[in-house]
Amino acid sequence: MKPINLLALTLVTLLAAPLQLNAQTQRRSRNSTGRNRVIANIIREIDAKNIERTVRQLVSFGSRNTLSEQNDPKRGIGAARDWLYAEFLKAAESSGGRMTVEKQSFEQPKVDRIPQPTVLTNVVATLKGTQPEAAERVYVVSGHYDSMCNSPTDAKCDAPGANDDASGTAAVLEMARVMAKYQFDATIVFMAVPGEEQGLLGATHYAENAKQKAINIDAMFTNDIIGNTLGGNGVRDRVTVRVFSEGVPSNETPAEATTRRSVGGENDSASRQLARFIKENAEKYVAQMKVMLIYRRDRYGRGGDHIPFLERGFPAVRFTEVNEEFKHQHQNIRVEDGVQYGDLPEFVDFAYVANVARVNAASLAALALAPARPKGVNILTARLSNDTDLKWDANKESDIAGYEVVWRETTSPVWTDSKNVGNVTSYTMKGMSKDNYFFGVRSIDKDGNRSVVTYPKPLGRTRPADRAPSTTTSP
Ligand SMILES: [Zn+2]
Repeated sequence: MKPINLLALTLVTLLAAPLQLNAQTQRRSRNSTGRNRVIANIIREIDAKNIERTVRQLVSFGSRNTLSEQNDPKRGIGAARDWLYAEFLKAAESSGGRMTVEKQSFEQPKVDRIPQPTVLTNVVATLKGTQPEAAERVYVVSGHYDSMCNSPTDAKCDAPGANDDASGTAAVLEMARVMAKYQFDATIVFMAVPGEEQGLLGATHYAENAKQKAINIDAMFTNDIIGNTLGGNGVRDRVTVRVFSEGVPSNETPAEATTRRSVGGENDSASRQLARFIKENAEKYVAQMKVMLIYRRDRYGRGGDHIPFLERGFPAVRFTEVNEEFKHQHQNIRVEDGVQYGDLPEFVDFAYVANVARVNAASLAALALAPARPKGVNILTARLSNDTDLKWDANKESDIAGYEVVWRETTSPVWTDSKNVGNVTSYTMKGMSKDNYFFGVRSIDKDGNRSVVTYPKPLGRTRPADRAPSTTTSP
């Protein structure tokens, strides 16, 4: 580290020190523009130089193919695993013991892209929440540290994986470094996983384990391919990041599908509410960036580590650059007709990766400072009315201030209006018909932190068939 950076870090640490006294003091702090000071500090402290250093270090291991060397200190996925583990431990030092780091190892049996049983290791850093009622609520941010060249089972070729996905891994590590010293109500997990290119194996293991243990993962972000700003289409875009969210939940039940076909909701999954939350919060704190909401689970013919979470009912989104360059993904390093192929660090825009990390961090911090999203939210359908009756369960967190009802026209992509209805558990929107708008409810705490919106489930009659199964029309 250069002396100037050390000085800057010391200053930042000194400035941030009073905010560490306790969570209450910290969260009371808003700056003159009404922005949360902790989030503003985090945004400022994220440093593209650290991200560049991480990307180059990961590339220096030659290959990070999941089938590559496990025990060579210089080359292969094992060297990358150990380096990352040590770096997360360093990041944890400023947390006062609240951040713990573990290697979550498991033996992956033979599957399509794993020719023989292989040990995979997720590197997991957990920053424990400080509010007793919220500490069991978990937010996961992840990148995959494995890489591949043309063939996913070629463990020998050089596979730098600078963009796919050292960029995402570096963003996660930088967030851990910066956020470790701050306190959040809820718990944040910073994770680097292998086996993505082998079939999302590391993420699947983590998600399945979380499901078995009934861990309350309230949101998951995967950062995958977040560093290229000059697309194969010749378009340069340094200010936009895509956030992919599914519409119809991957784990939707037949009963939920029936309701959705009747009264809509295909644009209102928990993951889509999460995506809207990200756009609203990130663009407030990271003004130089635009969040492009993509209303689909992932790109055509592609997948990512958010999918195993979605399949198990955890809200999740994917962050990816806007214009991809396929000559620099999953390619053996070579020059053909004067064109360079391969996922090399010279094609990564480190300042852009840092901005994507800021978008992530602003959203994560906003989630973990806010109360839980309302549970048990219902839209009452028993009476035919031009009003809209909503009810929900009381949030038991000690700093809850109340709730907001949000709404939008049914053709609007994002929430457009909100009304603070106070600390109540039901509310009637007079003169606004549930048939004409979409409604939602969010929690708000005493410091003005707002949760993700919960989209209500109908309670009562949702379709004519509820009364007369053979009838499909109603007056
Ligand atoms: Zn990837």
